[in-house]
Amino acid sequence: MDKTLSTMFGAMVFGDEVMRERLPREVYKSLTKTIATGRTIDPSIADVVANAMKDWAVEKGATHYTHWFQPLTGVTAEKHDAFLSPIGPCKVVMEFSGKELIHGESDASSFPSGGLRATFEARGYTAWDPASYAFVKDGTLYIPTAFCSYTGDALDSKTPLLRSMDALNTQALRILRLFGDTECRRVDITVGAEQEYFIIDKSMYDRRKDLVYAGRTLFGAPAPKGQELEDHYFGPLKTRIAAFMSDLDEALWSLGINAKTKHNEAAPAQHELAPIYSKANIAVDHNLLTMEHMKRIAEKHGLVCLLHEKPYAGVNGSGKHNNWSLTANGKNLLDPGKTPDENLKFLLILAAIVKAVDDYQDLLRISVAYAGNDHRLGSGEAPPAIISIFVGEELSSLIDSIVDGTAYRSAKASMLDLGIPSVPVFRKDTTDRNRTSPFAFTGNKFEFRMVGSSQNIAMPNTVLNTAVAESFRQFADVLEGAESFDACVAKLIKDTFTAHRRILFDGNGYAKDWESEARARGLSVLPTSVDAYARFMDEKNVRLFSELGVMSETEMRSREEIYFENYAKIINIEALTMIVMASRDYIPSVENYIAQIADTAAKKQAVCADASCEMEKDLIRRLSSLNAEAYRAMQTLKEEETSAASIPDAKQRAACYADRVLPAMAALRSAVDEMEALTSSKHWPVPTYGDMMFRV
Ligand code: ADP
Ligand code: MG
Repeated sequence: MDKTLSTMFGAMVFGDEVMRERLPREVYKSLTKTIATGRTIDPSIADVVANAMKDWAVEKGATHYTHWFQPLTGVTAEKHDAFLSPIGPCKVVMEFSGKELIHGESDASSFPSGGLRATFEARGYTAWDPASYAFVKDGTLYIPTAFCSYTGDALDSKTPLLRSMDALNTQALRILRLFGDTECRRVDITVGAEQEYFIIDKSMYDRRKDLVYAGRTLFGAPAPKGQELEDHYFGPLKTRIAAFMSDLDEALWSLGINAKTKHNEAAPAQHELAPIYSKANIAVDHNLLTMEHMKRIAEKHGLVCLLHEKPYAGVNGSGKHNNWSLTANGKNLLDPGKTPDENLKFLLILAAIVKAVDDYQDLLRISVAYAGNDHRLGSGEAPPAIISIFVGEELSSLIDSIVDGTAYRSAKASMLDLGIPSVPVFRKDTTDRNRTSPFAFTGNKFEFRMVGSSQNIAMPNTVLNTAVAESFRQFADVLEGAESFDACVAKLIKDTFTAHRRILFDGNGYAKDWESEARARGLSVLPTSVDAYARFMDEKNVRLFSELGVMSETEMRSREEIYFENYAKIINIEALTMIVMASRDYIPSVENYIAQIADTAAKKQAVCADASCEMEKDLIRRLSSLNAEAYRAMQTLKEEETSAASIPDAKQRAACYADRVLPAMAALRSAVDEMEALTSSKHWPVPTYGDMMFRV
């Protein structure tokens, strides 16, 4: 097994080993340096690299290449070009130039730009990200790229991410230098994204228009059984699911994706896949590929993979735990050290992160704000929509002792002269993990748990990187001018924890009173996506991104526009789907059922005049009244949808969908779901929650 896995792993990737084998020594050296430092490629080697890449790809069966990018649609985009180059009538050779490798041009007018490009200048450019390896998939060589406009504005999720990685690297290096590290050339951000998803039988999926159009059920009464027995989490895999997962693993491994862990999740038919972490930009690419393959491979097994944050009401939704850390010289900077010196550095970095998360709570919240995720965050199972940090008992009491100037309770800890206790040799947190925390320290990394299962993890990581870069920048400014470095670090740590202690919260994030407590602490409470988006262009946020060169104000404005637009579009699709399902499926089906009951009653009385028809009468009365209610609710929804759709301003339109269309949808759902319980299964037009979740 191991042997096959190791030969299979990365077989379709133009990775380091292939490069070393196939590139001239000097070219290989130059390219790996480019990759390691995040610099741009030396144009003089581009032709050689492109040619080697093409030869390798052709051996793997490729005839085409594509610049693979991440427009602001949330999904990836690709346009395939053949390697063809004519060399006379009826004669071609397979060619691929350095220029074609590093730079692509595409008519990008159909991608969201939030008003960044007028159609007359609709050209978009793609640029190779050499740090993310090219790979072959389905006969095409995929080249991971960044995507920008003619004027150089980022039109994708990847460009700001790469910029944020650079910003963080620059500022983190300043800190490391202050601690005497002269060796480190690059501080890397490591990310591991645990991906949750649901699986449903394809034949049932096809019969649910809501799943097909909206990715989530818009109707559906709860099944008699949900997740209350807690029998699904880590339970044995069903044969069909196991077969799907094993195909998925193989496909991912061949693309060099470290799919490591797979298991059943809490809700019925819910599962999770966790990879081994990698550099942030690669983790982003790999997560997108993972989601794509989950969908494709499920289909091969007669299944459909649902990546929506909340496919079913009443059971857990799906998220993506974004594990995040920093590495320098191959060492994890979030590993508490064994010496006082290392501990001081660790504490400073911890303080920087705590400060970053507190200063930019709103941006972190915005980075996970998505119409689908609104059904999940704060609904009693996922982390709340309020950002707070859980650091565990050990660190928590350490921070308390720093802030309050009291002795640290742990026997093993010793106090430094500076009044900063050293972190004791840090055991992987033995205290119970706080599952309700949106941002938790888990031993040697932070876990940001608010990310939605369908979302690109680029933006959450971009925000995190940039906010932490800003903390480091401020710290480095102070420390570089300090007379006594040690005293200054100690003071900085103490001052930072003192100023930002309000963001630390070890309690139950699901508890109702947490919201009022959070407000009392002055934390930002942004329940819905629309509330969150409205804070995006706050002056402090614009300053953060523009000063660190991650996004210009123009780029941010275009994203803000897309946020609102996208939100409105999603709710609009859901509303229209509900209207279609109500008018064409539910309402007529219930009418039919009512007719049948009436028919039965008439027949009963024809045979036996004194037979009681109370039950029929009662059912008819209740169903007629509910169906009429559904009809009225549908009319109201139609009106609300029409009036929301006509609002020209994207922000106001989104707000109208949130405030008026969503409640109208809920009213329609409630009438229909109530009828479901009263209608014969033969007459019910779609598979029920029970069918969908328990019959995979
Ligand atoms: P759990 O959090 O469920 O206990 P693990 O701790 O094994 O599971 O890791 C969960 C995820 O965190 C995995 O994707 C793993 O690769 C990732 N991870 C572990 N260490 C790091 C790190 N230093 N940086 C980023 N991600 C990490
Ligand atoms: Mg985890």
